[in-house]
Amino acid sequence: MRILPLFLALSIPALATAQNSAQHDLSPAVARYVKYSTAKNTLWLEHVRVIDGTGAPPIEDATVILSDGKIAAILTPANRVFGCPDCLPALHLDLTGHTIFPGLVGMHDHMYYLTRPDLDITGASEPPPVVPQMSFSSPRLYLGAGVTTLRTTGSIEPYEDINLRRAIDEGRIPGPHIDVTGPYLEGPGAFALEMHELKDAADAKATVDFWADQGVTSFKAYMNITRAELKAAIDEAHKRGLKLTGHLCSVTYPEAVELGIDNLEHGFFVNTQLDPGKQPDICPRTSGTPTIAKMTPDTPEGKALIALLVQHHVAITSTLPVFQSDDPVRLHVQPRVLAAMSAPTREQYLTTRNLELQRAAENPTQAAARAQLLKNDMAMEHAFVAAGGLLLAGPDPTGDGGTLPGYGDQREIELLVDAGFTPLEAIKIGTLNGATYEGRADHIGTIAVGKNADLVVVTGDPSKNINDIENTELIFKDGVAFDSQKLLDSVKGRYGQY
Ligand SMILES: [Zn+2]
Repeated sequence: MRILPLFLALSIPALATAQNSAQHDLSPAVARYVKYSTAKNTLWLEHVRVIDGTGAPPIEDATVILSDGKIAAILTPANRVFGCPDCLPALHLDLTGHTIFPGLVGMHDHMYYLTRPDLDITGASEPPPVVPQMSFSSPRLYLGAGVTTLRTTGSIEPYEDINLRRAIDEGRIPGPHIDVTGPYLEGPGAFALEMHELKDAADAKATVDFWADQGVTSFKAYMNITRAELKAAIDEAHKRGLKLTGHLCSVTYPEAVELGIDNLEHGFFVNTQLDPGKQPDICPRTSGTPTIAKMTPDTPEGKALIALLVQHHVAITSTLPVFQSDDPVRLHVQPRVLAAMSAPTREQYLTTRNLELQRAAENPTQAAARAQLLKNDMAMEHAFVAAGGLLLAGPDPTGDGGTLPGYGDQREIELLVDAGFTPLEAIKIGTLNGATYEGRADHIGTIAVGKNADLVVVTGDPSKNINDIENTELIFKDGVAFDSQKLLDSVKGRYGQY
């Protein structure tokens, strides 16, 4: 049992001096989605189940008091208090039948969509792929589904992401807290025209410097970067106090670890160390598939890689939703996901999905091999955590597999349970682990006294049924409670359009 403050009057003045990021007044454009705010009331969440994000068992029938944007107290039935003389007028919410858990910290949460022009029913499209920014729909889907902090993990429109962050922080647009990742650090061969192609290591260093000056707070290396460029980018980012992750291909996982990378994206799917004919600094067409086809936690290579990652404190980001099409059994087409999409986006998604299912039916051997990739990756992610590795969670919403902002973050946590984690472990990966990586675990990531009131209210009990994380009612960000459904409804039919 944790130690709980008995006298709220003592704990609250100390909290009032703490930094409160909800200092800006909310504009009417944001206020219309707000149901309660600790700026007006002290909020008492009563008779609620608390999943605190540390992996500890839930506290049943708790009272959680939110004041001035912070979590002021967590009381069990045994030491419930009545009244708080110095507090703002209290508003009591009876949350019987509800659970709260920390706001999700989404670690692969892009702000764009990816379109394939003139996609036809055979799956053919014409170049170039176009990558429209979703500055309207994405932040609302993220926040509405319970993501209170995210990292963009690769930016297509870096100025737009930086300005979006400011607009949200100033209360002009609803959305989560954002760690803006710089533009993709990519070499020649970029899939999108929006990307700069690095010329050499000096260019990598200059690019990191320029965007750090503009205000990005992390970086991401991409598939065609060279080791020399990656090394220059990592060193420069670290000099600026920023972290660098990578969706790699030309550079293998062990090479990137030796170069000092902080984080690797897409679980173990994009490691090319065992791809046949892998040339240094070149991304093979197979882009990691032969490696994950062979690699399990029991193989010498799998064991050695996990040990290397843990020893060098390199985090891994699990992005299972974007790979769920590898196993058609796991693909579930949720009505709410289809409803969020614009009509052309829905058509593109259903066309692609239909082709996937058709291919799987026509070639069951190949389909089984693809499903095995997902199994191997899940086993590697589970073993990585068991060995002490820091696993992060994010959906990688780019349109693939019906993976959407927010809904995809929830799906990621559900798929972690499929991978063998308990619901409480999966929630910890989606909350505290991200906060830890971001260096913000003092303020966010768990439900604890003194932390920011960033938390999700759902009906049901996700500690027993993980799918209950989808039943979002209120999303608290810095003590401001947003109406989840109202936010989600406001973008119906818009994702993919703007
Ligand atoms: Zn991505």
